[in-house]
Amino acid sequence: MEAIMKVKLPVNKNEKKTGKVIDLTYQGNGVIKIDHYPIFIPNALPGEKITFVVTKVTRHFAWGRVLSWQKKSSDRVELKDQRYLQTGITPLGNLNYEAQLRFKQHQIKELLDKAHLDDIKVLPTMGMAKPYRYRNKAQVPVKLIRGQLETGFYRRGSHDLVPIEDYLIQDPVIDATILAVRNQLRKYHIQPYDERTGRGCIRTVMVRRGYYSHEVMVVLVTNTKKLPHAADITAALVEQVPDLKTVVQNINDQKTNRLLGTTNHTLFGPGTIQDRLLGIKFTISPLSFYQVNPQQTERLYQTAIANAGLDGSQTVIDAYCGIGTISLAVAQHAKKVYGVEIVPEAIADAKENAKNNHIDNTEFVVGKAEEQMAKWQKAGLKPDVLIVDPPRKGLGEELIEAAGQMAVPKIIYVSCNPATLVRDIQRFMDQGYHVTKPIQPVDQFPQTTHVESVTVLERTEK
Ligand code: SAH
Repeated sequence: MEAIMKVKLPVNKNEKKTGKVIDLTYQGNGVIKIDHYPIFIPNALPGEKITFVVTKVTRHFAWGRVLSWQKKSSDRVELKDQRYLQTGITPLGNLNYEAQLRFKQHQIKELLDKAHLDDIKVLPTMGMAKPYRYRNKAQVPVKLIRGQLETGFYRRGSHDLVPIEDYLIQDPVIDATILAVRNQLRKYHIQPYDERTGRGCIRTVMVRRGYYSHEVMVVLVTNTKKLPHAADITAALVEQVPDLKTVVQNINDQKTNRLLGTTNHTLFGPGTIQDRLLGIKFTISPLSFYQVNPQQTERLYQTAIANAGLDGSQTVIDAYCGIGTISLAVAQHAKKVYGVEIVPEAIADAKENAKNNHIDNTEFVVGKAEEQMAKWQKAGLKPDVLIVDPPRKGLGEELIEAAGQMAVPKIIYVSCNPATLVRDIQRFMDQGYHVTKPIQPVDQFPQTTHVESVTVLERTEK
């Protein structure tokens, strides 16, 4: 059947072509079109003229690889080491930072235009002064390569480990800590986990460091219950890593892509670290979600809070609240804050965090945000502001409907995915809401393609 339906495609595999790059996809690949047929080409930037070879052909698009440049973009940054583009540490690292910020603003604008929402404005992306070495957390796989234990990063779309020592976007103390851990694992001949056989011990090293507190947490994720020489390794790390506060063994014996398992053994210290955000103390445990760019998170939250227009008299719902970071920051400016989150441990942390900061006008509930919203609505809760900060898949439809039925006057939407943001804006419009301010992108992940933004929706009579 397939063979009979053969269609003529504008390119063939292994064919060499020359063309002009006209666009950059949300994944950071250059686009060349031949008769409307797109060819995606890594490390090619808009405006560049290139010669490329076609590496893969499908019915609707093809992939290519740059062979040479006839004209380069003035936005191009020459990387010393191409591996950083390929590993996905800095997929936008070939674009200067100003152009990255424009790219992110444009991503949102383009999706709005496609949805015929071109009257909604998007502000320039709020960037960082120093867009490197910002991450407060690292999770690196451990593998055996030619008989040697290595830490590094996976090549994009694969599980091939590229050994790396400088991760460019992580706190340098974290990079140094990973090396100290790697050296101890080598010294005691700890066997890296092998995904194919399911054998071996160490799978992943996770390191977190408090931006203000400087406290360091090391999590050794093992496939086995026992970590040989755990005491020796821990003692060496305590000696070598400055401000090491805690070492935890996390057991993950499942054949899964999930990095962490559910069982933790504390090998040293309290099992948690502390840090601050907007002056509020937070306890962070190995499994809890905590924003990875502390400087930009403060700006993101400040933007969200400023847009909420709080004067101390309002009732606020923080849906998808995690460990309560937004809820507790908002609590100082509101009468009452309700938080809902699906992970029970995160809610336990949120309650603990409220107590530690002597904040007593918050209430945290474990549950699905969409179900809890419907419950609050039935119970007659009348919030003045709803703040949502959902994962990439966006909001559950029931949540939007419940918000509409509650007639919440104002919604602050913190989004990490412009595609689902635009979809949800349309659903909110069906409930009588309108975007009343330009959307503010905030760059939480410099050098990567991630786009974070704050949108204000209000119920207005039209
Ligand atoms: N506002 C927090 C967390 C944002 S991340 C912060 O800034 O730190 C999104 C959170 O949504 C995660 O904690 C995730 O566990 C949670 N989550 C995912 N699906 C959910 C759902 N259906 N209902 C409630 N929470 C959910």
